[in-house]
Amino acid sequence: MAQAQGFCVFCGRPGLTKQHIVPDRLSAILGRPDVVSPQLKLRSESQPERFDVVDDDLIIKQGAFHIKKLRIVCGEHCNSGWMRALEERASSVFEPLVRGQSLYLSADQQHLLAAWASQIAMVAEYTDPEYAAISQADRTHLMINGEPPPNWRIWLGHFLGKDKNDSSYNHHGLIQPYLDWTIKNDKNLATVQTSTITLSRLVFHCFSERRRGSFRYNVEEKCRGIIPIWPIKTENLNWKKAGSMNEADRNWLSMSLPGLAHAQNKESRR
Ligand SMILES: [Zn+2]
Repeated sequence: MAQAQGFCVFCGRPGLTKQHIVPDRLSAILGRPDVVSPQLKLRSESQPERFDVVDDDLIIKQGAFHIKKLRIVCGEHCNSGWMRALEERASSVFEPLVRGQSLYLSADQQHLLAAWASQIAMVAEYTDPEYAAISQADRTHLMINGEPPPNWRIWLGHFLGKDKNDSSYNHHGLIQPYLDWTIKNDKNLATVQTSTITLSRLVFHCFSERRRGSFRYNVEEKCRGIIPIWPIKTENLNWKKAGSMNEADRNWLSMSLPGLAHAQNKESRR
């Protein structure tokens, strides 16, 4: 990946530093378990109005997701600057959620949580650079505005899986070559992505696309226990009550992009 040669993927400055993808403070809650983190990569080929999944690749990486570090962000302006400030502000919200505590989330807290979640998804995607679908414009938007881009959708869930130390990342990048008319896609660029991140009792799921409306992602109709926090819909959200999901729900959610791609493909063939 070109940016890893020395320029920050958010601001373009040199002076990269090794950065935890997930705040190190969460290690106190999540421990340092010796687990594997599965990642599914997805590639599709398409004609206008439909596409076929032609290849998928499950990659098992050693080590819990939350202890991973990447060297893609500059030290001064980003890592120790606005990113740390965002983490500090958001920690009073995400720490109770990771612990599974009851919490009513105000609109402001949802806003903060959505910004923090999108920041993690943007950084984590560099573990899967071949299928990266998040644009520079989206990263710049978060950096400048302190909130996810308007074309992002983010959900939360309260995870009831057996493993309290679950820490995992599942990324799907979808390549839609037929979108050539809006973006240069000669490099087989992924255009749609979902990131599903589990941190003990907190699951968050981010969807973004380079071209708004290119993919009908109706995941809310299909998945139990997810609650939207971006765009903000509810003033006061009881996340634990509204968003309980078991392991099967979470696994379905993390696989939903290929699932819905297949369904969309089938529908368009009717
Ligand atoms: Zn930077």
